[in-house]
Amino acid sequence: MTALIDRHTVPSPASALVCRNCAAQFPLGAQHACFECFGPLEIGYDPAALARVTHDEIASGPHSLWRYAGLLPVGQNPATRVDSATGMTPLIRADRLADELGFTGPVWIKDDSANPTHSFKDRVVSVAITAARELGFERIACASTGNLANSVAAHAARVGMPSIVFIPSDLEPAKIIQTAIYGGTLIGVDGSYDDVNRLCSELAETDEFENTGFVNVNVRPYYAEGSKTLGFEVAEQLGWRLPGQIVAPMASGSLLTKVHKSFKELVAAGLVPSSSWRVFGAQSAGCSPIATAFANGWDVVQPVKPTGIAKSLNIGNPADGPYALDAVRSTGGAMASVSDDEIRAGIRLLARTTGVFAETAGGVTVAVLQKLVESGAIDTSVETVVYNTGDGLKTIDAVSEGALPTAVIPPTVKGMREAGLL
Ligand SMILES: *Cc1c(COP(=O)(O)O)cnc(C)c1O
Ligand SMILES: [Zn+2]
Repeated sequence: MTALIDRHTVPSPASALVCRNCAAQFPLGAQHACFECFGPLEIGYDPAALARVTHDEIASGPHSLWRYAGLLPVGQNPATRVDSATGMTPLIRADRLADELGFTGPVWIKDDSANPTHSFKDRVVSVAITAARELGFERIACASTGNLANSVAAHAARVGMPSIVFIPSDLEPAKIIQTAIYGGTLIGVDGSYDDVNRLCSELAETDEFENTGFVNVNVRPYYAEGSKTLGFEVAEQLGWRLPGQIVAPMASGSLLTKVHKSFKELVAAGLVPSSSWRVFGAQSAGCSPIATAFANGWDVVQPVKPTGIAKSLNIGNPADGPYALDAVRSTGGAMASVSDDEIRAGIRLLARTTGVFAETAGGVTVAVLQKLVESGAIDTSVETVVYNTGDGLKTIDAVSEGALPTAVIPPTVKGMREAGLL
């Protein structure tokens, strides 16, 4: 019998906050910027602690992202976890999509619309609110492009914490309703996401918000680690190995960067065989600061003013842009951006070939996949995982035109015949 580690007594494998810019280290806590250079901080781990995690321990854990607690900074003790049964979403073999795009290698859709609030944000929020509770915050807040608002409000309601959520006031109606329904405070701001984010950074410094954990501001190093579970799960679902290529959407660029980090950690911990993989990034033409930097060979991401229907990805000044560029360039991947019409076509292509109805962000990713095939940037003979990060019902207006009944008939056989359907 394999001895399982008792997570009640195991300390976190996280060892420090590490500056991503100058590598200075700080004690774990609610800090997000380096005191030396103001660079962003991320969680550093004790490699020996990560290497102690086994397949058996993960397999015997809950059917949620908390099965990877041994690889996360918080939640080692089940009693502290915010557990909404997030994660373990389907990895769908998409043979018909692969055929249509001319792939000879397998194509998989990692369908994160299956999370409790129907986007990948439930992962980062599960980890961030767990961290906020462990760090002693009494209230939860965020700056959101939509899905984060849904998820923060829902999880705060689940654990009975007050929440205050800030969104651009022009979000999709479904995302506003799906946030307001949970009963927290919801503030629409007349401005872009980047304005909302700047406001939240300022509020986080005020005395009135001293008790408040902004999941993607002062708790951001913890929040970002939640995205790693998108990589851990794919590896486990493939039988503990890594795919050769991944295609992921980019807003701040954090998700893509952290999936890449998760693959490196799995190899270092001995949980998957060492292999090479290439990372591909997707943006919309209405907001493509990272893809534009990639196309021009820039190291610096020039901020833009976002437009277009892929609102969940509309971050004009992406905090993790340089790190996403690094992940893509260092693996020999590529980035591309697609127009609103291409996004709509991407949503339809995915729906009609896989039965998955994606929100606009998923349309961006599938349309970029197609573009990368057409340009020859992606290798169609290599196993490829494509991340769908949100549910089509959240952005239904984007594709409502033309999505109508084939015919409307009276309830008679004659009606069928007269409509030319018999
Ligand atoms: C937030 C979000 C992303 C990615 O966000 P990053 O800031 O790049 O981590 C992708 N898809 C959807 C649907 C999102 O809501
Ligand atoms: Zn620094």
